[in-house]
Amino acid sequence: MNQAQEDIVAVVADCKDGKGLADAMRALYAELDERIAGHKPTCWNHGDCCKLGSYGHRLYATSAELAYFRLGHASAWRDPGDSTSCPYQIEGMCTAREHRPLGCRVFFCDPEAQQWQGPVYEEFLARIKRIAEEWGVEYRYSEWLSALKAWPGAVSDVPMGRSVDPARRGVIELSVLN
Ligand code: SF4
Repeated sequence: MNQAQEDIVAVVADCKDGKGLADAMRALYAELDERIAGHKPTCWNHGDCCKLGSYGHRLYATSAELAYFRLGHASAWRDPGDSTSCPYQIEGMCTAREHRPLGCRVFFCDPEAQQWQGPVYEEFLARIKRIAEEWGVEYRYSEWLSALKAWPGAVSDVPMGRSVDPARRGVIELSVLN
């Protein structure tokens, strides 16, 4: 693991309340998805954009998004290894839709989407920053594949809430997302 990867693991682990963060992120993504559905964008490439390297696409996610993603996928973590494709894309389908980051939700190759993508992305990115502040996740902006590689194998050995008083940690078990 390089320095940047160690850093993002540490930042995510500092989340003071996994349940609080998960509830906030879930609500925000629900609002975002509703907003995007209102634009009625069309998916033309059926998953090619998730083959990040060959598509010429670099996907980034904030530390709060990675914390939420980690809570949802700790038991089904996929290390991309040397691949430049997202390991959660299988046969053209995203297998991580519930927890996928903002960039995945907002991006559509539909030319019409270019009119609203930028403003919607910036608006929700700002709100994710505020959620990160609220739940003690220091802001980082990490390249997606590199971040996935930061937790190879068993990810549960880096508990969230490790640096705060245990009494303040709240419930961080994975069951909070079930
Ligand atoms: S998380 Fe899902 S939508 Fe995002 S790049 Fe991976 S497969 Fe594609």
